[in-house]
Amino acid sequence: MKFIWKSLVSVVLVFLLLVGCSTEKDNQTEGKIVVVATTGMIGDLVENIGGEHVEVTSLMGPGVDPHLYKATQGDVKTLDEADMILYNGLHLEGKMEEIFEQMGKQKPTIAVTQDIAKENLHEVKVGEYDPHIWFDVTLWMQAAHTVNKALIKENPEHQESYQKNYEAYIKKLEELHKYVQSEINTIPESQRVLVTAHDAFGYFGAAYGLEVKGLQGMNTVSEYGSKDVIDLRNYLIKNEIKAIFIETSVSKKAIEAVIQGAKKQGHTVKIGGELFSDAMGEKGTEKGTYLGMVRHNTDTIVNALK
Ligand SMILES: [Zn+2]
Repeated sequence: MKFIWKSLVSVVLVFLLLVGCSTEKDNQTEGKIVVVATTGMIGDLVENIGGEHVEVTSLMGPGVDPHLYKATQGDVKTLDEADMILYNGLHLEGKMEEIFEQMGKQKPTIAVTQDIAKENLHEVKVGEYDPHIWFDVTLWMQAAHTVNKALIKENPEHQESYQKNYEAYIKKLEELHKYVQSEINTIPESQRVLVTAHDAFGYFGAAYGLEVKGLQGMNTVSEYGSKDVIDLRNYLIKNEIKAIFIETSVSKKAIEAVIQGAKKQGHTVKIGGELFSDAMGEKGTEKGTYLGMVRHNTDTIVNALK
């Protein structure tokens, strides 16, 4: 009897092993395409359009600053094994450009901003553009179009599915765009000023009617100086600004220095809250999605400035 039990257990084990192996193999033969995205925002976009037909990895998690990000050995392996690479471009991932160039020789390596017309971009210096396009939801719709096109080209057999997901997601983006606009409109006009640590909200401000001011420039690579702190302090006092914002991917030390400086001059500024600028929240939470991130930022800004 004992012997029969033992053989039964072995048979079940062997069976389970076989099932395990075959599902693993199925995943590969099912035709899932392996996509590596740089930022969480891009990864989220690919998941929404690709659905069940894609396997997405985002290299940069919550709190990670893409301007400073350098690919690790592990990242290079991940990029090497991908079928397709999607990145922001416009020099957002300033320290990864050589890798994109190398990978581009082997596989589709696509900047999601590549189809946005230059006249819709903000030129910072000659030939250099603000990369933070995801904060104008209408520009992000164009990035969605580029992702949809890339997935269909790579994997035409699921074209219908991608197209359907894309159209459904565009509807959500249209709703989001309207939500942001109507919420920002509730802030008194004189208070529609958004002061943050680095200049990530230029497109947001232009699209929804806020004046935007950052302590640090567009790029966090260059350090801010004491003159920047004093200039921003004077700006806050002159314009009677009551709240400024910290960002999850940038140190809040600089913003605290500005607040201290204003306080010494008798002007009280509070931290209006924490905004997601160049990275999203934890995966699995609402703020870990693009839609949730933009809503969170909007609500935080409106609550502090209203
Ligand atoms: Zn940035």
